[in-house]
Amino acid sequence: MSTKLRFRVVETAFKKKAVEVVPPKERPSEYFGKYVFNKEKMFKYLSSKVYNKLIDVIDHGATLDRSIADEVASGMKKWAIEMGCTHYTHWFAPLTEGTAEKHDAFVEHDGKGGMMEEFSGKLLAQQEPDASSFPNGGIRNTFEARGYSAWDPSSPAFIEDDTLCIPTIFIAYTGESLDYKAPLLKALRAVDKAATDVCHYFNPEVKKVFAYLGWEQEYFLIDEGLYAARPDLLLCGRTLMGHDSAKNQQLEDHYFGAIPTRVAAFMRELEIEALKLGVPCKTSHNEVAPNQFELAPIYEECNLANDHNLLTMALMRKIARRHGFRVLLHEKPFKGINGSGKHNNWSLGTDTGIGLMSPGKTAEDNLRFVTFVVNSLMAVYHYNGLLKASISSATNAHRLGANEAPPAIISSFLGKQVSDLLDHIEKSTKNDIVTMSGKQGMKLDIPQIPELRIDNTDRNRTSPFAFTGNRFEFRAVGSEANCASSMLVLNAAVADQLTIFKKEVDALIAKGEPQMSAILEILRKYIKECKPIRFDGNGYSDEWIVEAEKRGLDCEKSVPLIFDNYLKPEAITMFERTGVMNKKELIARNEVKWETYTKKVQIEARVLGDLAMNHIIPVATQYQTDLIDNVYKMKSIYPADVADKLSKQNKELIEEIANRTLFIQEHVEKMIEARKVANKIESVREKAIAYHDTILPNLDEIRYHIDKLELIVDDALWPLPKYRELLFIR
Ligand code: ADP
Ligand code: MG
Repeated sequence: MSTKLRFRVVETAFKKKAVEVVPPKERPSEYFGKYVFNKEKMFKYLSSKVYNKLIDVIDHGATLDRSIADEVASGMKKWAIEMGCTHYTHWFAPLTEGTAEKHDAFVEHDGKGGMMEEFSGKLLAQQEPDASSFPNGGIRNTFEARGYSAWDPSSPAFIEDDTLCIPTIFIAYTGESLDYKAPLLKALRAVDKAATDVCHYFNPEVKKVFAYLGWEQEYFLIDEGLYAARPDLLLCGRTLMGHDSAKNQQLEDHYFGAIPTRVAAFMRELEIEALKLGVPCKTSHNEVAPNQFELAPIYEECNLANDHNLLTMALMRKIARRHGFRVLLHEKPFKGINGSGKHNNWSLGTDTGIGLMSPGKTAEDNLRFVTFVVNSLMAVYHYNGLLKASISSATNAHRLGANEAPPAIISSFLGKQVSDLLDHIEKSTKNDIVTMSGKQGMKLDIPQIPELRIDNTDRNRTSPFAFTGNRFEFRAVGSEANCASSMLVLNAAVADQLTIFKKEVDALIAKGEPQMSAILEILRKYIKECKPIRFDGNGYSDEWIVEAEKRGLDCEKSVPLIFDNYLKPEAITMFERTGVMNKKELIARNEVKWETYTKKVQIEARVLGDLAMNHIIPVATQYQTDLIDNVYKMKSIYPADVADKLSKQNKELIEEIANRTLFIQEHVEKMIEARKVANKIESVREKAIAYHDTILPNLDEIRYHIDKLELIVDDALWPLPKYRELLFIR
C-alpha cells in the first residue's frame, strides 16, 4: 500500500454522496413481516386444522406432530414461489459466530423427464448439512459422524433474496447440540416450567412464562475504501495499530450530533429491510464514539429475538456494502475510544400479560416481583463466573473494563428503590412483614413502588447486570456475540434457582407455615446470601477489584481461564439438572471456545508481525535515512560545531527510530518463537492459555512503539489510514 493510495482513498471517501433510498409506497405497518411466513400467511396457506396444530406448537410449546410437516412445507413452498423464491435453506447458528446456510433449489425430477418444484415435509423437518466442517470440539470424532439440522417451528421461516430460509437447530446424530439454538430452546423450556410453577403461588391461572430479550446492537461504520486499506481491519476486524486521533470522543459531539447523510441513508434502508423481515426496529441513533451507532428493536420472545439479531447482523453487513461502507461488529475496533456492546435486556413475563420483573400496585404483586428479582440475583450470584464465561471471547476481552464498558467482574446494580425494598425485607422479622388481620387474612408490609418512580436506575452505566425498572440489562455482552450464549446460561441458571426456591418454600408449607410467610422467609435468607453480588459503586475503581475478590466474585481476566467456569462441578450439575446440556457437550463446546480463542490471537499476531515488518519498519527506516541524509548535508554547508547544534533534534529522531524499530523487530521475532512453542502444545486449553500469556502481551508492546513511530514519521510516507481519517469520514 503506497501513501498515494492512502491519500486517494481518503479523498474518495470524503467525496462520496449518500446513496438514494426509495422508501416503499406502503406504510411500515403494511410491509412489516412481508418476507416472513407469519401467522397471517400460515392462516392463508394452511388448512385450519394444520394451522391450529402449528399455532399450538408455536404459542404453547406443544410437541410437533410430524404428520403436519408435509402440509406446512407445501404451504410454505406455495407462498415462497409466489414471492419469487427458487431455493430454500436450513438456517442455523453453528458454534462459530454468524449463521450458516446451504442453499438447495426447489426443483426435482418430475418422473416424466421434466422438472417440478418440490419441497416435502421431510425436507422441511430435517437435513444433513456437511457438518464436519463446522466446529464441533471432538463431538463428531468421538460420537456419530453425521449431524443434522432440524426445523424450529417456533421461529418463522423467512425469505432472503430468492431463498426461503428455515430456522433450525443443528445437532449431532447422537443428539449433542452443535449450535446455540438447541441449548437455548432447552433453557427457555426450563425457565418456563420453573417460573410457571413459582407463579402459581400468586397467579394459579398462569400456563406459560416467556423469557424476553431486547437487544441493543452497537456498531461502527467505516468507508469501504479505508477499510480495504487497513489489512488489520480486513483480517481481524479491529485495528492492531493506530495512534489516538487528537480529537476523538472528548467533546461527545457525535452522540448529540445529526446523523451524517450517508449513514442516515444506510440506517433508513436497514430499517426498511429489517421491518420486512419482521424485526420490530424501534430506535437508531449515534453512539458516543465517532462513527459508532446503535440499532434496537422492541423486545421479543428470546429465541425469536435472537434469530432476529443474527438476521439483522447479516443484513447490516449486506446493506452497508450497498452504501459503500463496511460495518464493524468487533467489540473493540479502535483503541482509546468506546467499544461496541450488545446490551441484552432480559425479563420474564406470563401468558396472562404479567411482567414478572415489574413492580406491581399491590403488596402481593410486589412480593411476586421481589420473588423473581431475588431469585434472579441468586442465580447471577452463584453463577457470576459462568455468566462471565458466557460473554467472554478473544474480542470482547479488549472491551471489558475500558471506556464505558462494564468491568470483567459480574455484579448487579439495583438502584435505590429496589435496594431499599430488599433491605427492608431483610431487616424485618416474620411478624413485621406478614401481619394476620382477622377476616382479611394476611397483610403484607411491603412498600409500594409506584411505576413512575422507577427512574434514575440508569445512572450506573457501567454495571454489568443492572436492574432498569422492568427488566435486567446484561451489558457485558459483546457486539459480535450470539446472544444465545449468554441467554442460555442466564435462563438455565434462573430456572435452576427457581426450582430450588420452590422446593424450599414447599418444604416450609408442608411443615404448616402459611404460604406468604414461607415465601418471605426463604427470600429473606436469599437476600442475605446473595448480597455480595449487589454493587452500586464505581466498577472501575481499584478498590472494587479488591472488594470483589473479598466477596468471592470471579475476578479472573484471562479468557481461557474464564472458560473453565463451564466445567466446574456446580455448572455441570446445573446444566444437567435443567436438561440444557450434558457434560460431554460442555467439554466439547469448551474445546471449540479454546480453539477459537487461539486462532483469533494467532491471526492477529501474524497480521501484526507482517504489517510491522513490511509496512512500518520500511517507512520508518526510509524516513530515518532521509534524516541521516539531512544531517550529512548540514555538515557540508555549515562549520562542524554549527551543524552539530542544528542537527541535534534530527539525530535524536534518528536514534529514537532506531530504538523503536529494533524493539519492534525483536518482539516480532519473540512472538514468532512463542507461537512455535505454543503450537506444539497438545491440549487445546493449555494452548489457549499459552496464547494468552505469551503471545497476546507482545501485541500491545509492539503496537505501542508503532504508534509512537506514527507520530514522528513523515505523514506523506505513512502507508495506513490514520485514526483521524478512519473515524471522521462521512
Ligand atoms: P437504553 O439505551 O436506555 O437502555 P433502549 O431504548 O435503547 O434503552 O433499549 C431498551 C431495550 O430494552 C429495547 O430493546 C426494549 O425493547 C427493551 N425492553 C424494554 N422493556 C423490556 C422488558 N420488559 N423485557 C425485555 N426487554 C425490554
Ligand atoms: Mg440499554
